[in-house]
Amino acid sequence: MSNHPGEYVGDGDPVVDASLSDRPAELLQELIRFDTTNPPGAERSCIEWAADLLADAGIDSELYAQNPDRPSLVARIPGGDSPALMLYGHVDVVPTSDQDWTHPPFSGVEEDGYVWGRGALDMKSGVAMFVAAFLRATQEEIDLAGDLVLCLLADEEAGGDEGAAFLVEEHPELFEDVEYALGEFGGYPMELAGVRLYPVQVNEKQVCWVRVSATGQAGHASRPSRGDAVGRIGEALVTLDRERLPYHLTPPVEEMLDRMADEVDEEAAAVLRGLKDPDTVDDSLAALGDEAGTFEALLHNTANATILRGGDKINVVPASAEFTVDSRLLPGQTDEDVATELRDLLGDGVSVDVERFELGPEETDLGMFPLLDDVLRDADEAAVPVPYVLPAATDGRIFARIGIQSYGFTPMNLPSDFDFQSFVHAADERIPVEAVEFGTDAVYDVVRRYEGAVE
Ligand SMILES: [Zn+2]
Repeated sequence: MSNHPGEYVGDGDPVVDASLSDRPAELLQELIRFDTTNPPGAERSCIEWAADLLADAGIDSELYAQNPDRPSLVARIPGGDSPALMLYGHVDVVPTSDQDWTHPPFSGVEEDGYVWGRGALDMKSGVAMFVAAFLRATQEEIDLAGDLVLCLLADEEAGGDEGAAFLVEEHPELFEDVEYALGEFGGYPMELAGVRLYPVQVNEKQVCWVRVSATGQAGHASRPSRGDAVGRIGEALVTLDRERLPYHLTPPVEEMLDRMADEVDEEAAAVLRGLKDPDTVDDSLAALGDEAGTFEALLHNTANATILRGGDKINVVPASAEFTVDSRLLPGQTDEDVATELRDLLGDGVSVDVERFELGPEETDLGMFPLLDDVLRDADEAAVPVPYVLPAATDGRIFARIGIQSYGFTPMNLPSDFDFQSFVHAADERIPVEAVEFGTDAVYDVVRRYEGAVE
């Protein structure tokens, strides 16, 4: 049983009441009840509801759409002469098909202290925090150092072409005075050697899609065939599965490792520093246990085979075969760099061609980090915030093209036994009610205390 794309699946009509700013978990429940599964996204009814909610507090907003079913929203509260601060988040979510949910994924149920549903973590909770903080800034009539911009986006989960990329390409004037922005993900705990690190995303990896193909002698499958296209693709797949691409220590990752090492005990610090040397990296990764995959991804370009194509007749040896590779590049690496690494690894038997690459942010501007650090320490006295490079991609890379430094800042005081990663894009995605309130208060604190760029 499925909903119509974009449909609100709550009882009756969605609540349009600006006092939801005091009840961000309820705001989140309403957001979840719009089925914004992407594809197709169909974000219009959800975005229009957000516009109505802002209007209830007397705030005007504008919708911008390349595809009429998929608008994004931009609203602005005027402030002083400092550069504007932006809060942005996406309202689309990934599919729930073939997943076994305890509660229907768009019901937005609150039970056992959690709000359940698709988007509870990625990232309707962040959107709820940003919308609630934005409403509070108006309701409490605070003096803002600069304008405060709210941007709610379509299409992040499928690459952002109809959301952030459309806005940045067609309406860059909307963001002209924005220097810093808060978006997904960061500000929730990662336990390392007993320390409650709160990674705040300041940079991210880049997406590169690659095709690996081989050609060879086609023929009747009744005759012996060696070294044909399928065989060579098979060899390349085995190599890719067994080997790693070369080690790289990039400046944003080095900064992150140094800051983490400064905060943990000697033993853990030695492990983290060991990641900075190609001779000791393997031992350090082995010592990191569950966290090893994250750090491995931050020290290498990665390449996973995803789609395989070969012949289409059982009795014909095909003349060509291929597979696609989802490759994720470190900041500062390019599509040519990873193509060279893949050619070196896979050898002459196959061709390596880049199909899509979007250059991501290379430089990291940490000018706003001290404020985020202070806010998190005030909110949780055990918090040790550190700058973090996300081993995935967000809309942050798109706003970086027009000079905006994003910080992944959707704070959540999650209990140590709550495994964030295991619920994102998965069944039974949920968030503690308390974490939504914690994040909203922290975001609002940033809005209140933001004084513009620190030179
Ligand atoms: Zn997301």
